[in-house]
Amino acid sequence: VSRFALRGRVVTMDAAFTTLDDGVVYVDGNLIAAVSPHDAPAPQGFAGVTPVDVGGTLFPGLIELHNHLAYNVIGLWLVDRNGVDKRYSNRDQWPRNASYQTNLTGPMKVLSSIPSHVAAITRYVECKALFGGVTATQGITLSSNAGIRKFFIGLVRNVEETLDPELPDAKAKIGDVASKDAKAFRAALLKAKCYLLHLSEGTDAAAHQHFEALTSADPDAIEASLAGIHCVALKAADFKAMAQHKASMVWSPLSNLLLYGETADVKAARNAGVPIGLGPDWAYSGSKNLLGELKVARAVNALQKLGFSDRDLVRMATIDAARILRWDQHLGSIEAGKRADVIAVGGPSADPLEVLFKADESDIRLSVIDGNPRFGTTALMTKLGAAGESIKVGGAARVLSFTNDQPGAPSISLTDATQILSTSLKNMPALAKEAAKPKPAISALAAMDAPPQWRLALDEIEPSGVEIRPHLPVEGHFTGMTVMSAPLALAAALPAVIKPLRLDPVTFVDDPEYIDTIALEPNLGDDLKTALYAAYGRKPTAKPKGKKQPKPAAQPNV
Ligand SMILES: [Zn+2]
Repeated sequence: VSRFALRGRVVTMDAAFTTLDDGVVYVDGNLIAAVSPHDAPAPQGFAGVTPVDVGGTLFPGLIELHNHLAYNVIGLWLVDRNGVDKRYSNRDQWPRNASYQTNLTGPMKVLSSIPSHVAAITRYVECKALFGGVTATQGITLSSNAGIRKFFIGLVRNVEETLDPELPDAKAKIGDVASKDAKAFRAALLKAKCYLLHLSEGTDAAAHQHFEALTSADPDAIEASLAGIHCVALKAADFKAMAQHKASMVWSPLSNLLLYGETADVKAARNAGVPIGLGPDWAYSGSKNLLGELKVARAVNALQKLGFSDRDLVRMATIDAARILRWDQHLGSIEAGKRADVIAVGGPSADPLEVLFKADESDIRLSVIDGNPRFGTTALMTKLGAAGESIKVGGAARVLSFTNDQPGAPSISLTDATQILSTSLKNMPALAKEAAKPKPAISALAAMDAPPQWRLALDEIEPSGVEIRPHLPVEGHFTGMTVMSAPLALAAALPAVIKPLRLDPVTFVDDPEYIDTIALEPNLGDDLKTALYAAYGRKPTAKPKGKKQPKPAAQPNV
């Protein structure tokens, strides 16, 4: 498709917050050619193009600024802390928890040790984001046996490798030397337009020290490129310092609340003028996709009376996210001249933004990325001439299109990926035993001749020479645990303790367990659980089906 037009209600998210009750978005190649009321004359070149009625509201594609995609085959962790005080107070605590190792790090190491699973995992986790309206997300890093690293190329825009000279690449990993040396750290920040780094995850003094460390060696070390992920421990004065240096932050409320029982003081961040983006963090301790995280953000905003409007919250997932990436001239709103990243969301509501907050994945009727229809109802995709894999979302037929894939994208279908991964996760004990066996040595000569074998780079849990958070020193001590110093997963003991696991369903609407697991989470308040049931349009079941908890959390009172 090179030229087409989409008709529906249009929420442009432009500076004037223009909303057209019945508008048309004209797409030419990868760009939006025009946005106009349906009865206005078609722009030049579109005389013969009949607008396709999307039967819903058009929004800019959602941009998520934080996700550890590779791990999203594994579903929500029923957070536990070995029976003691349930809340964690900083991020160096939970990676040592036994159930974290048997549920996440262990299985991920096993899955990533099977080269044929790379395509299945990348296809699957990318679809999880895509089906939630996401058109740009953090990337998946692959590493080869020859020591090369590259980004996974797929359907959704990758903020870390855009392949588009007008969209600067964001960085999300810092060399482990630069992560510990103030001068090298600042030099690294200066090299990127946007540096997404975990910052002050947790509520205690140790979490706050990560921020103190940034400024202790050099008060100007915070650069405009810094986008701090989480920032839970930051105080109003810290956000003022961030704002002074034009730095920004990424909010992941559900993950923060699940682990720490508290989230970032986004009210103070906003009052200081810090731009805020949104990200689900990962399926293991967060929302399944950005659509879910928008529901959480709205519920937390209402309960904590933070004073954000619906428009502010949608901005975090569209134009403000684009601004943080320095992409706002090209993405983040539906405006002529911008890249054609557009989603169509169904569902009746007088209030246009309400449509997005109420939507689940079955309401995403169409997703266009860079002018390519990638996912949508069979009717819309057919009208737009986009063929592909037939799938079901919430029982309704959808088409997933791989047309115009970048060279190097995986060729596996979502159906096959789902089959492979659900089988492997079910067989996890046997696979763990296999993975623990010593491998036959390959001669150096044979290794040189073989094509590079790619695997997922599990930078978060394995030493790989890069870090996802700074570890600058305060008073001579490095802040926080690095991946290098983290205790290694159970390794040899793993086959004995690992259990068969469930593949996390690709959508909320096809996951009968998600919301009831939320209801069992020990660190979430009852009021938030009640609000999330309402936001997801579900009623609590009499007895939530979930993993057994020693002391079940109180049920929401609906
Ligand atoms: Zn994270």
